[in-house]
Amino acid sequence: MNSSTQLLTSSAPNLVDIAVLGAGPAGMAMAALAVADDPNRKILLIDNSTLAEKTKENRVLALSYGSKQILAQAGLWDESIVRCAIERVHVSQQGRLGRTEVRACDLGSPALGYTVEYGALVASMAARLPKQIQLIRPATAHLLENSRINGLTTQSLNIEQGNAIYPYATSLLVRAEGGLFTEQDSTLFDSSHDYQQHALIARIAIKGQKPSMAWERFTAEGPVALVPLEPGHFSLIWCGSPVQTARRQKASPEELAAELALVYGERFSACTVKLESEARIYPLGLNWREDIAQGRIVTIGNAAQTLHPVAGQGLNLALRDCIELVYALRVPAAQWPAQLSKWATHRKTDRRLTRGVTHAMAQFFATRFSPAQHLLGLGLLGLDAVPPLRHWVGNQLMLGTRTLS
Ligand SMILES: Cc1cc2nc3c(=O)[nH]c(=O)nc-3n(C[C@H](O)[C@H](O)[C@H](O)COP(=O)(O)OP(=O)(O)OC[C@H]3O[C@@H](n4cnc5c(N)ncnc54)[C@H](O)[C@@H]3O)c2cc1C
Repeated sequence: MNSSTQLLTSSAPNLVDIAVLGAGPAGMAMAALAVADDPNRKILLIDNSTLAEKTKENRVLALSYGSKQILAQAGLWDESIVRCAIERVHVSQQGRLGRTEVRACDLGSPALGYTVEYGALVASMAARLPKQIQLIRPATAHLLENSRINGLTTQSLNIEQGNAIYPYATSLLVRAEGGLFTEQDSTLFDSSHDYQQHALIARIAIKGQKPSMAWERFTAEGPVALVPLEPGHFSLIWCGSPVQTARRQKASPEELAAELALVYGERFSACTVKLESEARIYPLGLNWREDIAQGRIVTIGNAAQTLHPVAGQGLNLALRDCIELVYALRVPAAQWPAQLSKWATHRKTDRRLTRGVTHAMAQFFATRFSPAQHLLGLGLLGLDAVPPLRHWVGNQLMLGTRTLS
């Protein structure tokens, strides 16, 4: 038990305003934003793993400019963990017409987004959590029936840590248990889709490429992305069929580099590609929960929706879930259930748009229906030729859709 849990020995339930299950990026952002909005709030944060287990994860995430703003508002933004500010994204199709480039400078912004490692992000957020948040880990939460305390309906829960059980009651329970597609229990979601694609993730060095530029290339097998780290270094996310991905994982660094150069074609023909890390595999799928608010329980982040990583939107969407949830809680706790239901309705636009675009990008470009690929190629050319449309796409990448303020 850590020092923050030493007070939790009474058998009467400890009353808190908000209890958050899951101290991943979404859960920590939610807890910190709730305190930033009202420093008098009592917040409980529970995770079933140790911090050391989570900080080992070194896959790279692209956080949007809007996510940086939300994390800064929570007091959790840490410039020192940023590997690169993404200034441009180049989008193209292998072997087909069409390409476009979205540039931050056209949108009047210093960057479209920022690359960080998952583990570094989690460690930095945990170190910056405000003192008002009581963090208990590793521990397990057991949800009980609702109870009435001081005239207010609350959600009861028991926190189990080691041999001890600590009773709690909360005005709001936030479920942020996250997880990757294959770790999650799909029966807990309203719909699921297995993309039959696996992502191969590795670090690579490419000499002779522009810094601060991300490359998204659509192939018949799935999307391939190169996300910039330090100049000359990239995180590779290569989505392909499970069989081909397994083969690529076993390929020699030289073979992998040669195949990658073929995928990117002439753009990389003058470059030297070198594999810098072991390649890891992530099976990809969509898990979707339609109703994210039920009474005093809400679901955010990957616990609400697990998306294909093609557009790097999972955590960015989760942070928008959080900020709007915090705005919805600016009324007395007795009115929270009605507000939560409104919040869930407002979030539908952004959630469905992000799911729709991600789902279409993951599948459509991998279609074997050739006219569709040409149409998409023309779509990319159209985007390139019509700056307002390209700016709209850029703004979606940077900020997403928010409905409350
Ligand atoms: C290959 C890949 C690339 C990606 N790239 C991007 C990207 O570029 N940009 C982006 O925005 N997103 C990206 N994502 C998605 C992003 O990783 C997730 O959206 C994000 O991690 C979700 O955060 P979360 O806090 O909801 O869940 P998680 O990160 O899974 O954290 C959940 C936490 O809850 C804890 N927990 C689990 N069960 C319980 C329980 N029963 N009780 C208590 N605690 C529990 C876990 O220990 C963990 O600490 C990518 C995903 C993948 C797989």
